[in-house]
Amino acid sequence: MAGQGSRILGHPILDFPERKQVSFTFDGRTMVGYEGEPVLTALYSSGITTFSKSPRFHRPRGLYCAIGKCSSCDMRVDGVPNVRTCITPLKEGMLVETQNGYGEAPTTISHKVERTHPFSIEVDVAVIGGGPAGLAAAAEAAREGVSVRVFDESITPGGQLIKQTHRFFGSYDEDASVRGVVIADELFKEVEGSGAMVHQNATVFGYYDPGFLAVEQDRQLIKVFPKRVVVATGASENVIAFEDNDLPGVYGAGAIQTLVNVHGVRAGSRVLMVGSGNVGLIVAYQMIQAGLDVVGIVEAAPRIGGYLVHASKIRRFGVPIHVGTTITKALGEDRVTGAILQDLDGSWEPVSGTERTIDCDVICLAVGLRPTVELLFQAGCDMRSVGELCGHVPFRDDNMQTSTPGWYVAGDASGIEEATVAILEGRLAGLHAAASIAGGDVQTRICDYRARLDDLRSGPMGFRIKQGIDKVVRECVLPEPKEVDDDRE
Ligand SMILES: Cc1cc2nc3c(=O)[nH]c(=O)nc-3n(C[C@H](O)[C@H](O)[C@H](O)COP(=O)(O)OP(=O)(O)OC[C@H]3O[C@@H](n4cnc5c(N)ncnc54)[C@H](O)[C@@H]3O)c2cc1C
Repeated sequence: MAGQGSRILGHPILDFPERKQVSFTFDGRTMVGYEGEPVLTALYSSGITTFSKSPRFHRPRGLYCAIGKCSSCDMRVDGVPNVRTCITPLKEGMLVETQNGYGEAPTTISHKVERTHPFSIEVDVAVIGGGPAGLAAAAEAAREGVSVRVFDESITPGGQLIKQTHRFFGSYDEDASVRGVVIADELFKEVEGSGAMVHQNATVFGYYDPGFLAVEQDRQLIKVFPKRVVVATGASENVIAFEDNDLPGVYGAGAIQTLVNVHGVRAGSRVLMVGSGNVGLIVAYQMIQAGLDVVGIVEAAPRIGGYLVHASKIRRFGVPIHVGTTITKALGEDRVTGAILQDLDGSWEPVSGTERTIDCDVICLAVGLRPTVELLFQAGCDMRSVGELCGHVPFRDDNMQTSTPGWYVAGDASGIEEATVAILEGRLAGLHAAASIAGGDVQTRICDYRARLDDLRSGPMGFRIKQGIDKVVRECVLPEPKEVDDDRE
């Protein structure tokens, strides 16, 4: 079996066509990668797994989230420090360097970095995030005749869907049994046909007076003045505490999926999965499909968390699922070479004497997600921590409008659920936001989307979610959002 970092050539579902090769420099060495792929995967496919050294203890740092939500893969690129290499497209002649500690501001600007003045854009509806929630919101709003722009920081639109090769669970009316990658493709076509404009590789990093979103795209600052905002920023992966959990080779489940399913790069050869919820089980299966060896699944609870159908598939490949067990230490100097597992007692305490070592080069954490809500905090939305929704979420009304006038939320940013829910919430938010500008008879469609959301939440899992939602749903009687009149430049 090919080892860590090699390219996947054959896959039962996905195609990884050859692309144009470009050369770049890494710490003085000339390397090659594919044009437009993330800098990180180009390095990874050449066996480089350490991208920076931590500021205080100079510990090696590898990737963790692979979707731009952490700082683990920050490097110096073309002289600029703190560049998230997981969402930076590779270009010919790039200068990539390991970052040691805090990135220092460059004293001279490389010729490749052009300084430009910020420019401004006005738009009716700005959608932050191009996952299922954001794309659905954009298509829905644009069809009402208002101007819509989506800002998405990833290289490829579609959010988490672009790595879901499995047939979706959920309701048959809402794309169940269709592969996530196919749903993403259909949504993107819908957006293209709707007239909404999508900015890729565009990070919304703040909201400032007098009412503009600050967007960074290709090292340019764009000031976006929207009448309405839909926040569909998705979620970040959780981490759990164990010794040396920062070693390169400890990845989030979504990260390993991104490497393998989106970029066709083998994340390692022997994977230990931590967490047996649906995400852990599905990702473990997908790693087997891609030719990796899954050496075991560790689950702290006394029983498997995900659907039996996913667990049975894994077991058929002979992968052991260790329930009532945890990971207590990652082994290795510069990167993972193994892990120590330990049994847990009835009070979830490690049982001494049960320690054993497992040989692996990847430890994959599938231990839950939390909503990405920083921009909502910054916009002054009333927020609350709700366990059932997996973290801080904004108060909102039945149309997904938050307590900040003209600001909406949809998808995992409003509470962790599923893509099918994210799509419907996006449609509801986009439709209401557009109708609040353009008018129009939208009530029947709004009622339809709400009813379909109710249906999706009718099972036992949905009951818990509904309890969480009840804690943040308010009757929002809000003043009309004020129009922007300012001294923009
Ligand atoms: C392994 C796995 C299996 C799953 N299986 C299923 C399934 O079978 N059925 C199902 O219904 N669901 C499934 N899901 C869940 C589903 O993928 C998510 O619920 C869904 O993708 C959430 O959609 P979203 O649009 O809210 O967020 P995301 O899909 O995460 O999209 C968010 C987007 O926002 C962008 N973004 C974030 N912050 C910024 C910013 N500041 N500026 C610009 N852009 C930003 C990101 O780049 C991303 O593209 C699965 C998830 C995983 C990980």
